[in-house]
Amino acid sequence: MKLAHSHPEAVIHVCFLLVFLFSSVLTWREGSVLKATYELSQRASLKDIADDLDRQFQFSLDQLLFCRNMLQQVMRAPAENSQMRRQLDYFSLLRSQPVWHLYASMTHSLPLSGIADDAVAAYPLLRRDDARLKPELAATLMMSLILQLNDANRDFHSRLWYLSRAGFWLSSTPLPQGEDTLRYLTRVVNAPWFTAMRPESNLSRQPRWSGPDATAAGRSALTLSLPVDLDGYWYGVLAMDFSAANIRQQLLLSLPERPMGSILFYDINLRPLASAVDGPATAHFTAEQIARLQRAIAHSDRGALRLDTRYISWVKTRYARGVLINVDTLRQSLTGSTGQVALALLGMWLLFTLALLLSHQLIIRLVRRLLAMQEKLRWRASHDGLTKMLNRSAFFERANALAYESQLRQRPFSVIQLDLDRFKQVNDSYGHEAGDRVLAYAAAVIDDTIDPSAIAGRVGGEEFCIALAVTADEAVAIAEKVRVALAQKQVFAGNSAWLRVTASLGVASSEASGDYHFKSLRSIADRRLYIAKTSGRNRVCDRD
Ligand code: GH3
Ligand code: MG
Ligand code: MG
Repeated sequence: MKLAHSHPEAVIHVCFLLVFLFSSVLTWREGSVLKATYELSQRASLKDIADDLDRQFQFSLDQLLFCRNMLQQVMRAPAENSQMRRQLDYFSLLRSQPVWHLYASMTHSLPLSGIADDAVAAYPLLRRDDARLKPELAATLMMSLILQLNDANRDFHSRLWYLSRAGFWLSSTPLPQGEDTLRYLTRVVNAPWFTAMRPESNLSRQPRWSGPDATAAGRSALTLSLPVDLDGYWYGVLAMDFSAANIRQQLLLSLPERPMGSILFYDINLRPLASAVDGPATAHFTAEQIARLQRAIAHSDRGALRLDTRYISWVKTRYARGVLINVDTLRQSLTGSTGQVALALLGMWLLFTLALLLSHQLIIRLVRRLLAMQEKLRWRASHDGLTKMLNRSAFFERANALAYESQLRQRPFSVIQLDLDRFKQVNDSYGHEAGDRVLAYAAAVIDDTIDPSAIAGRVGGEEFCIALAVTADEAVAIAEKVRVALAQKQVFAGNSAWLRVTASLGVASSEASGDYHFKSLRSIADRRLYIAKTSGRNRVCDRD
């Protein structure tokens, strides 16, 4: 309470600052909760998309495993079928041709194609072993009947094929046109997805995911390959290609209703594979940002981090050694419903802060005006407006205090009573206004002449009183100084008239009687003033 009285402005500043801080902290807290909810939902959505993608990859892998089982089973016990036997006989006639084709059914199967016996020898990884060739051909012909059911428009994979080490292949889509078959085959058997299926490279005979591959069908993002073995012999490789377009289609299908950022599918080394955004399947990351992302991804299966103004969340896929990344730009985040709420929150905070600032200014101005008014009233209560001197009651109060203090400290105390001479005549001759001017002039002269430690006040119409902690002699000297100073100068009385003002002064001191009572000392001084008047005015009297 005391502080509010002594420093009201500071108290107002502190109060407003507290309200501002409180509202800012509240808004910030609300904002953080919103942000956390938003980020959580983005990450949950991303996980859903990744799960969808994994389901598709899982299904594809199952298909590939099914094909391998089928091939292995038929190779073990080839089905006897006249058409099949005819084709195998036919193969004996064709096998020396540069490129030959066999059909399990002219209408319901895909062609099984191969190269000539002597061409096979040119490839170190290929080997045509007659003892194993016929069951494998029969099994592959059987598979061609099933592969016919592939639907390029519906399947997630863009190609399923079997490449035998015996120099033949079966593919759900034709081999690229316009390129020499043998040269294409050279590239295929040297592709990582094929070479990695060698027993020495893949001891556990596991499926393998390979990155973008030029030998795959179309613009392929990924190839899944699976070795086909029987009785410890490596027969060939089953492979599936996944195009960027198909993966993109799948990503688009999995997108939630609410807006997501840019969904990108990268391999584990952050090479772009596919994306659900128009344009290039890559975000603009700097090398340093890529390195940060790589470090973060290496450490956990899912997470998020902030890169410049973008919020990046990621989740690794179980298959394809991939990582699905969602890049939320600030702009994208703000367009969603959570972003809109965040913007509204910010707007409200701004409005509130503005209103707070305005009311702070208003109240501060009001308080300053009140304080100034209070100061003026306080001054007016103790001062005389005309002479700017202490008024009677204020002067009495302070003079009494000075008398009391002087008595306590055993210091002398004196009183000078002053009355302007023939002042009525000034009023009568020059008017009341001139009289006022003379009063103000006399007060100024008194103030200038006495010591700052002395107290002076206007105690009547043209009567002044001075209380001082000095001896009688010093008081007489001061009274004399005042009298002389007053009498020395002329005052402008208006109408180009100048007049000289004199005063009569009475002096009383505690020294003589040891009486410190201000009231009685003042009445003694008044009495002596009267003596000064009667004995001719313009003089100082200090005795009766
Ligand atoms: P003396 O030398 O005996 O003191 O004569 P005097 O005329 O000064 O004394 P008197 O008491 O008869 O006159 C005082 C005058 O002071 C009367 C009054 O009109 C005038 N007066 C009192 N207060 C004011 C004031 O505030 N302004 C003006 N202009 N005159 C005032
Ligand atoms: Mg008088
Ligand atoms: Mg007078």
